[in-house]
Amino acid sequence: MAKYTSFDDILNIHTELHTTFRSGKTKPYAWRHHQLLQLARFAQDNAAALAECLRLDLGRAKQEVLMGDVIPVISRSLLAAEQLEAWMAPEKVQLCAPWEEGYSASVERHPKGVVLIISPWNFPIILSLQPLYTAIAAGCCALIKPSELSHHTSSFLAQTLHKYIDPSAYRVVLGGIPETTMVLELKWDHICYTGNARVARIVSAAAAKHLTPLTLELGGKSPVIIDATNPPKTSPPPSPITLPLAARRILLGKTLNAGQICIAPDYILAPRAIIPELVRALREAYTAFYPLRPSRGAANVGVGEGGGGEEQGEEEGEEGGGEGGALKTDSLGSIISDTHFERLKALLRATRGTIVLGGNWDGKTRWMEPTVVVDVEEGDVLLDEEIFGPILPIVAVDSMDDAIAFVNRREHPLVSYIFSNDEEFKRKFISSTTSGSVWIGDTFQQVGVSQVPFGGIGESGHGRQSMKAGFDEFTYARGVVDIPPESEPFLAGRYPPYTAESTGR
Ligand code: NAD
Repeated sequence: MAKYTSFDDILNIHTELHTTFRSGKTKPYAWRHHQLLQLARFAQDNAAALAECLRLDLGRAKQEVLMGDVIPVISRSLLAAEQLEAWMAPEKVQLCAPWEEGYSASVERHPKGVVLIISPWNFPIILSLQPLYTAIAAGCCALIKPSELSHHTSSFLAQTLHKYIDPSAYRVVLGGIPETTMVLELKWDHICYTGNARVARIVSAAAAKHLTPLTLELGGKSPVIIDATNPPKTSPPPSPITLPLAARRILLGKTLNAGQICIAPDYILAPRAIIPELVRALREAYTAFYPLRPSRGAANVGVGEGGGGEEQGEEEGEEGGGEGGALKTDSLGSIISDTHFERLKALLRATRGTIVLGGNWDGKTRWMEPTVVVDVEEGDVLLDEEIFGPILPIVAVDSMDDAIAFVNRREHPLVSYIFSNDEEFKRKFISSTTSGSVWIGDTFQQVGVSQVPFGGIGESGHGRQSMKAGFDEFTYARGVVDIPPESEPFLAGRYPPYTAESTGR
């Protein structure tokens, strides 16, 4: 593991980045364009090494690293390079008041300065490099402080990035809470923090001291609403979203990176009558994804399959219990740390719901089986905080209005997912709830639609990222108005001395 950056080095880097920004080096189109191509090259050249880092940090499969990190960094950096000229172009403002005749007005987007990027452990590549490519496109300098928990990946970024992009403008510092606290005492021109809401409050307080603008990319409990009560209404009918299809898509969203994704479906709200069929569909998807042996659930946590609620008590040791221990598959990642692993185990022990799929774990590798829990009611621990792991509670509702009311009783989520064939319900849900995004018919896949702004609202954060939205976040709209001498006849009346009539005295 690379050493943490010393306080002296942090101070020197801070000074150097501001000096570079003031020099104007990062502002020309050609510079930004070249650095974006270099960032894409970094991801391309180091794809295998980055996959290995994430295997070590999170046990993540190479395919997930390529899909979720490496390819998005390459494609978005290239796309940003391609669209940069259009993003940077000043926007002409049409003026219409008679006295504005001859004025020229435009809005230009100028870089804010030096951006501080604080990123978390769950997607340490994309969540560090997505704000970076937008900072580069915006003409800013940037400092990345990646998470100390994903230390293989963070160290690799610190050791390698500077070989591709200019280190006088873009740097990585390594460290834990003391280093981050020190970084936050310094003045930045924008802070982009991705992580949990508790630390977001610390970051916000630090930013407030310098009146620094802030992007907060947080998490929360993203609900999945399944509306299986209505057949397709449009004619001719589109292919309906069936429960088996919904189940596959939901289970994938919940198990990628072992559920440690800010946009992971946190819980399902489904009409009571369809829950047995939904569980059957989830079981089929489960067996298809993990053909070795889906656990029959619960030996470790004392809840039996199918709602038996059979208390078996906890087994000795850390190895998952049940027949032969926890499911073993290379398609599932592990839990990042002992603390998070203990937190998830405690949730499974404390829930009053019934585990119908999964429920076992392996303490040595910090693996937890994807676990589906039914009979979960308001007040249950699984509905308390963001789960951030492979546990999927299903809550029964009596109507779609109940589902909407349930979502509205809680903090605004990052994403609301809808699986429905009813256009009216989709519109109703969108107009009567609040969330960072509404994603329909799938989970997770929508985050790949990079042209659509991404971000939270309220407790799930504020500010927007991805492509042009990120460019706008790290630039400011600078109004430029030019009034020519020919406008003087229209303006003559404004000069003193004022007449008695115009002073009103
Ligand atoms: P984490 O523990 O890695 O913390 C995030 C960053 O904050 C790290 O760089 C860490 O060093 C720093 N940090 C931690 N404690 C600090 C302190 N006391 N003072 C200053 N800095 C501190 O990651 P995490 O918070 O566990 O990340 C998971 C959370 O992030 C989840 O809530 C998830 O939903 C959210 N998330 C959101 C997005 C998004 O795009 N909206 C993406 C990924 C994760």
